[in-house]
Amino acid sequence: MFTLPELPYDYSALEPHIDTETMRIHHDKHHATYVKNLNDALTGHEDLLGMDVTDLIRDLNKIPEEIRTKVKNNGGGHANHSLFWEIMGPGAGGEPGGKLMEAIKESFGDFPTFKEKFSTAGLGHFGSGWAWLVIDGEKLSILDTANQDSPVSDGKNPILLLDVWEHAYYLKYKNMRADYIKAWWNVVNWKKVEEFFEKAGEKK
Ligand code: MN
Repeated sequence: MFTLPELPYDYSALEPHIDTETMRIHHDKHHATYVKNLNDALTGHEDLLGMDVTDLIRDLNKIPEEIRTKVKNNGGGHANHSLFWEIMGPGAGGEPGGKLMEAIKESFGDFPTFKEKFSTAGLGHFGSGWAWLVIDGEKLSILDTANQDSPVSDGKNPILLLDVWEHAYYLKYKNMRADYIKAWWNVVNWKKVEEFFEKAGEKK
């Protein structure tokens, strides 16, 4: 059985950038529903129910065809949101340090250029989806995906992600996705992103 992880901070911890009510509905309703629907879809597939969710969505071709779309959508929803809560936090924002900053500079030139490109990926994404920073071979890449699709299913290793579904921002920012993205940078927990980056390097 998959379970809804607790938020690693209080619902109000990301105020004023991400409001309490959005966090509550996003976590307790949206994320919880992905977990429930994933468990429902996997009824009778005990082997899959025991897997780590990232491993579950890594190779969707291994999932029986009759439940593949449900696993892609709800497994993706569970994996993506679990990661999303982790890379945010109170008293965060600013810039990353260490090896991650070096890698960002190598891949994008400088930090402001990276930030602009990532923001553009989120802002320019049509409809519901995510913007991502992934480890792509020897460098970092920015990409965007539709719905709950994860770059993990394409063999990539995400270290930062931004939810651009309307449910992530509509209560506070209405149709102003650009304002949401601008505010979101203030809650990015770079320490955690650095951790993901360094862990991925060790696995190579
Ligand atoms: Mn979401």
